[in-house]
Amino acid sequence: MPNPIIQDILTLSHEIGREDRGLTMLGEGNTSGRASDETFFVKASGTCLGTLKEEDLVECRNAALLPLLERESMTDQEIEAALLAARVDPKAKKPSVEAIFHAYLLSLPGMKFVGHGHATAVNQILCSVRARDFAEHRMFPDEIVCCGVASVYVPYTDPGLKLAQVIRAQVEAYLRRYQRQPRMVLMQNHGIITLGGTWQAVLSGLLMAEKAAKIFVGAAVLGGPIFMNDENVDRIAGRPDEAYRQRALKL
Ligand SMILES: [Zn+2]
Repeated sequence: MPNPIIQDILTLSHEIGREDRGLTMLGEGNTSGRASDETFFVKASGTCLGTLKEEDLVECRNAALLPLLERESMTDQEIEAALLAARVDPKAKKPSVEAIFHAYLLSLPGMKFVGHGHATAVNQILCSVRARDFAEHRMFPDEIVCCGVASVYVPYTDPGLKLAQVIRAQVEAYLRRYQRQPRMVLMQNHGIITLGGTWQAVLSGLLMAEKAAKIFVGAAVLGGPIFMNDENVDRIAGRPDEAYRQRALKL
């Protein structure tokens, strides 16, 4: 019987790949989901999220990818060979080069799904001088509910192994600073990653971040966004009615 996680990843992929949402186009972006404690499914290289099919997902072994995070450097050929060797089924397609950061993020406690896109409004900001400002501040309560108290910010890094290593370092810094699991990673000049325990949480994070980005850009035109202060952000993050809403929305 096929793993039920496959259908959830396909649903998430089709939602992220919807053209009207502007989160990805063509072969952009990727998705993954935890299949077991040892393996996960990730989108194959060169496939399209909006039309993703079961055969476009590749099951990979954590034990083959996570140790790469400790390697000082690898050539492109070595990384390609490692990605192919990580497949459970040697006849499956080649995993996305971003499979290494998917493996890492899915290893965090409670995380079952990961989604990555090059969302238009979010990237307007990530390609600007205000990128870090957008990642580290919050403007309205629902942004906190869906996107967390802040996002992990990653300065521009070459995609592949280096990017996965910098994401890990920045997530570890976030855990020390905020003492809670991140919901969102924002990568300068690249795009957005959301993670969560359900596919709905991953999609809601992407959609809310895209909305927040439009609000940020609009507010910037009107003289600059007014951010919520730390006390108000903590208050929303800790409110029982917000926790109830999170559960109801499967966040
Ligand atoms: Zn990307």
